[in-house]
Amino acid sequence: MKPQILMLQPYKPGKSPEDIQKEYNVEKVVKLASNENPFGCSPHVERALQNSFSLCSSYPDGAANELREKLAERLDVKESQLLFGSGLDEVIQTISRAMLREGDNIVTASNTFPQYKHHAIVEGCEVREIPLKNGAFDLDTMANAIDIRTRVVWICNPNNPTGTYVKEEALVHFLRTVPKNILVVVDEAYYEYVNKEDFPQTIPLLKEFENLLVLRTFSKAYGLAAFRIGYAVGNEQLIEKINIVRLPFNTSTFAQTAAVTALKDEDFLQFCAEENRKGLEQYAEALKELEVDYYPSEANFIFICTDESQRWFEHLIQKGFIVRPFPSGVRITIGTKEQNTGVISIIKSLMAEKKQIKAGVTS
Ligand SMILES: *Cc1c(COP(=O)(O)O)cnc(C)c1O
Repeated sequence: MKPQILMLQPYKPGKSPEDIQKEYNVEKVVKLASNENPFGCSPHVERALQNSFSLCSSYPDGAANELREKLAERLDVKESQLLFGSGLDEVIQTISRAMLREGDNIVTASNTFPQYKHHAIVEGCEVREIPLKNGAFDLDTMANAIDIRTRVVWICNPNNPTGTYVKEEALVHFLRTVPKNILVVVDEAYYEYVNKEDFPQTIPLLKEFENLLVLRTFSKAYGLAAFRIGYAVGNEQLIEKINIVRLPFNTSTFAQTAAVTALKDEDFLQFCAEENRKGLEQYAEALKELEVDYYPSEANFIFICTDESQRWFEHLIQKGFIVRPFPSGVRITIGTKEQNTGVISIIKSLMAEKKQIKAGVTS
């Protein structure tokens, strides 16, 4: 076995709502730990899937031609510029497998989405993790970390777990400084939620930068996480070569149908983005009042800073809310208005308790 595999841990999914229900004896469990869409997916998807059930004994269309055509049209790119994966997770693996040789290195940030690092280690690479600056990628310092063994730079934008983003100007400046033989991958898993004008428009940038790849997914705003479908957009020669590594039937018939159907329902997508924006405001307002630090988010989650993340996690789970703890805070998926209100009221009581404890210590 590759020695580096022995150093890695398998991906540990959080406890399921059913486990939590039993363990903590709570009636209703709300999972706000994986940035899933609280509104499900477009209602048209279920109907489309019922109609396609008869295809269950045939292999899927390996090239995902219908989805390819519809998505290329939507993004205004050539069909040959798209590569589909069984979730972005698989796309990240495929890129790593195609690009990385033993002894190479990748440059990314810490903390960010862990899969860039995971696959780099599997391929025997060094991982250069540049600390975030105010919760966002520090591109200047990352540029300095690049050397002749650097193959891929991974940028998560907006960043998971902080929700902060790199502006178009900074990204373009970075792309101009990176040597053309180094791949720059921008993971935009939360793209559909972003509201900011100065957020990079990366698809038009593909014309200027042939070493740029943009990643997006149907798992988050489109609400199709169970289907496992995501994609890369990039230069067609680059995509053609990475495609050699892709498994022949990596995305299912049903995932392709679900994605095609979801893509048509722009109203649903807009509804989710709008509700998410309101939810982020709900949190911002409450947290300002409580004087609790958080990162301004453009995604469907918020990172709240606390040195008591384990206490917060335990407290929230006892009330039926599963969130994601980190050493410096908790990441909470934006839910429905009622779910957000529930979480916020628990945060209020946590802060009140903390004040009481402090007062007790000082008096
Ligand atoms: C959720 C997420 C992914 C993985 O998405 P899938 O398409 O479900 O595999 C990739 N990157 C980031 C930043 C994510 O948050």
